[in-house]
Amino acid sequence: MRVQVTPLDRDMDFDTLASWDVVIIGAGPAGLAAALTTAHRGLTTLVLEAKETPGGQPQFLYPDKRIIDIPGFPDGITGEELSSRVYQQAVNALVQFRFNEELLDIQDTDQTHKEDSLKSVVTNRQMYLCRKVILACGLLHFPRKLPVLDALDSQQVHYKVPRIADYSGQRVAIVGGGDSALDAAVMVLERHGQMDLIVRQDTNGKADTLRRIQDSLGRIHMATEITAARITDARIAGTGLELSLSDGCTLACDLVLVQIGFLSSEDIFRRLNLRMNDNGSVAVDSYFETSRAGIFAVGDVHGDIKLVVVAWAEGIQAAIYAFKEITSPFWLNEKRLRDLKINLIGDKLAEAARARRSLTQ
Ligand SMILES: Cc1cc2nc3c(=O)[nH]c(=O)nc-3n(C[C@H](O)[C@H](O)[C@H](O)COP(=O)(O)OP(=O)(O)OC[C@H]3O[C@@H](n4cnc5c(N)ncnc54)[C@H](O)[C@@H]3O)c2cc1C
Repeated sequence: MRVQVTPLDRDMDFDTLASWDVVIIGAGPAGLAAALTTAHRGLTTLVLEAKETPGGQPQFLYPDKRIIDIPGFPDGITGEELSSRVYQQAVNALVQFRFNEELLDIQDTDQTHKEDSLKSVVTNRQMYLCRKVILACGLLHFPRKLPVLDALDSQQVHYKVPRIADYSGQRVAIVGGGDSALDAAVMVLERHGQMDLIVRQDTNGKADTLRRIQDSLGRIHMATEITAARITDARIAGTGLELSLSDGCTLACDLVLVQIGFLSSEDIFRRLNLRMNDNGSVAVDSYFETSRAGIFAVGDVHGDIKLVVVAWAEGIQAAIYAFKEITSPFWLNEKRLRDLKINLIGDKLAEAARARRSLTQ
């Protein structure tokens, strides 16, 4: 038996649909790539995005940075341009978007559409019925705060790199040792700012970026923390900050950029009752399907390699598997059925190992 899909048509009134073929959570690289792939194959596709605009991390965390590892862009491309190009492509493919809608829950229902059982996707605003869900909401939720700086309640403390065309003459302190902190350091130095990088432990950032920072005369404070911070003169507009460091230095600066990671979306995954990996990411099988049938997960949400092109590739693959399931249910697909059985056996073995571990603890 084959379940046919109806090709999308520009005159379609998507608002009158009783249910969607695919609902995608998150309009970052993974979600946008998945969405244009399902829409190109004629599936009605709705993307729900918690923020008010699309793009994910490249748009929100590094819009001005030139990304240099995307094939086909030898001169690099900014996060903002990349996001807007892929979004436009999805809009042209007739993907539908709802912004400011945050996923809260996904419930199974006893309703069906073309022999597929429907899921109910619940957001902070409404509920949508659909046949397949693709989770592409990244692992990051909100930036992790640094209490000693947060207590200042100062507009000069930033958790997202502010959009300043030229940092000329500005004294910028950057807190963090990961790739985001190092990228921000390079950006400030390239824009003629003075930069102090404060790294609590050893940096796990890229060695070549670290070299670029040192070559550009950026100062790096290793194994150092901010022990105290104060606003130097609250009465003066554009006033500075003074940071006391555990290495004994006192640092005067105009801006502090805190790049120490994010709180994860783990709570949402637990609420959805999805099997998780030990590192808090969502476990998927080789078809990017989670432990709940019909719910796929792609991009940073589960992956080890956190890159735009990997998020794109996974989004596209999950979209094609979802399409295959809709047009030819997996129980007609022998390989899929065999893999499902192997996974079930794997799950049972993992469960038994967990039970054994908890008995010996
Ligand atoms: C500073 C920095 C620099 C980087 N530089 C590079 C680089 O040079 N090259 C490269 O390839 N990669 C780079 N990366 C990594 C790359 O940005 C990520 O791997 C990629 O964005 C992952 O895409 P994604 O779609 O899985 O997740 P995200 O980009 O995180 O998108 C997820 C989307 O889901 C939305 N969302 C989250 N929760 C919900 C919810 N409950 N309901 C609805 N929507 C939700 C979010 O608002 C977001 O828009 C960098 C990352 C950082 C932090």
